[in-house]
Amino acid sequence: MLSKKIVEMLNAQVNAEFYSAYLYLDMANYYKDEGLDGYFNWYKIQAQEERDHAVLFMEYLQQNGEAVVLDAIAKPDKEFKEFIDPLKAGAEHERVVTALINDIYAVAYEEKDFRTMQFLDWFVKEQAEEEDNADDNVKKFELFGGDSRSLYELDLEMAARVYTAPSLVIG
Ligand code: MG
Repeated sequence: MLSKKIVEMLNAQVNAEFYSAYLYLDMANYYKDEGLDGYFNWYKIQAQEERDHAVLFMEYLQQNGEAVVLDAIAKPDKEFKEFIDPLKAGAEHERVVTALINDIYAVAYEEKDFRTMQFLDWFVKEQAEEEDNADDNVKKFELFGGDSRSLYELDLEMAARVYTAPSLVIG
């Protein structure tokens, strides 16, 4: 049985993951408006991944007999003036999400909730990847984004990203 505190934190994480999806859709839309269809594609897929994360947290709660409480999703509030802004905001955001996952892990550890720790292990690894990808996006843009021909190439690279379902399956 999961503790009340863990259930609360997992429900909050469902919301945080949907918020992430919303935030990345906002970034995707920004790039669409700017004519960078590759970046649009990358962030649209990122949003799909975040929705998957939300559903994984939902299913974990349900597997443990807990009700899922869907809360209102906050409006994306970042302002983008330059092409690099969403990339930087994305990297920053992933660090926030990592901290949220770590906070749940810390409580599970305190409570000797080994089941939740094991469930969260996948997310701990996933966050390392998310941070790495987000940092790569910033670095590549800093290197090549200033030149229109290289930006075109970068955009093509972002266009090549394809959606893959998460490797974690609940139930
Ligand atoms: Mg996520």
